[in-house]
Amino acid sequence: MLGSTSCSPMIDTHAHLDSPDYDADREAVIERAHAAGVHTIIAIATDLESSDRVLALADSHPSVYAAVGVHPHEAKAWEGATSAARLRELAKPPKVVAIGEIGLDYFRDHSPRAAQERAFRDQVQIARELELPIIIHNREAWEDILHLVEETDAAQVGGVFHCFAGSPEDARRIIDLGFHISVNGILTYKNAGMAAVVQHVPADSILLETDCPYLTPHPYRGRRNEPAHVSIVAGRLAELRGVDPTQIERETDANATSLFGLAVRA
Ligand SMILES: [Zn+2]
Ligand SMILES: [Zn+2]
Repeated sequence: MLGSTSCSPMIDTHAHLDSPDYDADREAVIERAHAAGVHTIIAIATDLESSDRVLALADSHPSVYAAVGVHPHEAKAWEGATSAARLRELAKPPKVVAIGEIGLDYFRDHSPRAAQERAFRDQVQIARELELPIIIHNREAWEDILHLVEETDAAQVGGVFHCFAGSPEDARRIIDLGFHISVNGILTYKNAGMAAVVQHVPADSILLETDCPYLTPHPYRGRRNEPAHVSIVAGRLAELRGVDPTQIERETDANATSLFGLAVRA
């Protein structure tokens, strides 16, 4: 059923394409994405080593772009000026379209919260210097992340709250700050409570992602996720918004192209 309902182009704005989960068949995964109409994949880093890997993937695949940065889970390894200098270098190639993913995760707390905050502040600073949008990971840290976004004036570069799973009010606050929300397979899960959110956000504020290899959409839940499945997310979003899937594909494609400067960087 991959891609069966659409022929419009789509962009997977959040894929962990460097994950070892793809080591055995990464090229086939990318080919399947193309066959499903996914013409662009943004490969998202989680630490500095992962940033090297997503850059290599972007170098070797015309359809792959990169976001470099340090995830809150890995923030404990952030060494201030040393890490910042390295990230600044990693962010220079033209196929780097964002700093990410960065943010706060108070659900898992894999890094001390003070370290998460410090890594976030430093990385927003780099994004502002290099004029790159940011990709924000937020889990159970709403008040703190919104406060930090305002305090660091991150709206100057803008970006996206990826894997959005908040309330309609949270969505409103993010969009008022000038940020996008990105939705994924969670939209297809029963009782996820996302219908009320996606029915009311403006069309120009939504992006599509998979967050693969995680969050596989129904009916493939329980198996490895991959960029081709972004077509299922598009289909479900269309259903919830009561519009044609091709309209969703066109709108989200335009939003991602504009936010990440894909057209001018291609
Ligand atoms: Zn994330
Ligand atoms: Zn992610």
